[in-house]
Amino acid sequence: MAKDEYGFETLALHAGAAPDSATGARAVPIYQNTSYVFDDADHAASLFNLQEPGFIYSRLTNPTVAVLEERLAALEKGIGATATASGHAAQMIALLPLMGPGDHIIASSKLYGGSITQMGHTFKKFGWQVSFVDPSDPDAFQKALTAKTKAIFVECLANPGGVVVDLEPIAAIAHGAGIPLIVDNTMATPYLCRPGEFGADIVTHSTTKFLSGQGTALGGAVIDCDSFDFHNPEKFPSLATPAPEYHGLTFTESFGNLAYTLYGHAVGLRDIGPTQQPMNAFLTILGIETLPVRMDRHIANARIVADYLDGHAAIASVGYAGLPSSPYYDLARKYMPKGPGSVFTFKLKGGYEVGRKLVNAVELFSHLANIGDAKSLILHPASTTHNQLTKEQQTAAGAGPDVIRLSIGLETVEDLIRDLDRALAIATA
Ligand code: PLP
Repeated sequence: MAKDEYGFETLALHAGAAPDSATGARAVPIYQNTSYVFDDADHAASLFNLQEPGFIYSRLTNPTVAVLEERLAALEKGIGATATASGHAAQMIALLPLMGPGDHIIASSKLYGGSITQMGHTFKKFGWQVSFVDPSDPDAFQKALTAKTKAIFVECLANPGGVVVDLEPIAAIAHGAGIPLIVDNTMATPYLCRPGEFGADIVTHSTTKFLSGQGTALGGAVIDCDSFDFHNPEKFPSLATPAPEYHGLTFTESFGNLAYTLYGHAVGLRDIGPTQQPMNAFLTILGIETLPVRMDRHIANARIVADYLDGHAAIASVGYAGLPSSPYYDLARKYMPKGPGSVFTFKLKGGYEVGRKLVNAVELFSHLANIGDAKSLILHPASTTHNQLTKEQQTAAGAGPDVIRLSIGLETVEDLIRDLDRALAIATA
């Protein structure tokens, strides 16, 4: 049976890995190792000149991390992947091959707050410009295009607002302008949505969340969906003109459709250095093995909790795209028919103060700044993850002062409801 005929569950367990050829070990070995012995001087030179594939130094490539990369590429149906130290590092490495000083991207105004800060402040230091636009209005992307725009960046399911982005018209706008659509698929994971099937060219992940799944390993990844032709020297000189540090090699000519991924390793990881650690790759590989069964349970629990909150007197609204009342319900059914994940927000009638009391009163939910853990989590974004945004940006990102974010875990769902019920009674007393 051809590998590309395997189902998602099979790929989640096997893609990129085989029993260890040296020992027969069935689990993926952790190559806790920095450097690799060359066969001889010619072998060393050809590795350094990118004339043959192989391991040189773990800042660029590592056998454990390579399994994770191959597995994620298989799950997203991509051609190649670059694993990174974090989701934020993935966003940096995703854009590096495309951008130079003065270049520009268009990003959704409803990205995770940390991404808005990264792109709106820190990326400016490289001379990278960003325009944030409302992702529910595809025309806004068209209007924001300039001659310097090199990519459009959105989350398909936005953290934290439960916003589902209509990828197809935005992909059409990107492709009309000769630029790729990059989609952060952290919240949905490839089990719920494969953005590449809807026109995305590059997918990024914070593997820290549902992919690793237990709050143990920070990581990120960039996956090339193999749909975009980067062979455009004027638009993408890093990929399509000679690289002086590799003796005039041109990535698109030498590596064809692997050019973008090889640039991520051979320049991005080499020079910026945000490499994923082998131990974190191992933990993430373990997490991915159970991703399908975990996501089914995350969604089943989230639906029940969202229904409960929707009927609660203290709650003004629930922003879960799985509720028929959500403006994103139809888009969610199209883009993620198994369900729109398990992270969502709700608004408290009592506003900021009741929100603070609620996060203090829960017992089973952990009050912390993460999502996608097997354990249920709660957060008040306006005073934490979205604290560095202006009030307007907070509201645009769905993280105003009255908003609480939940990441529903795998516990017995009745226990989660009892915990919320008790905490809401205390907070509103
Ligand atoms: N993208 C999304 C949707 C996120 O939620 C996060 C973190 O919360 C990131 C990217 C950044 O990932 P990391 O924390 O792994 O750098």
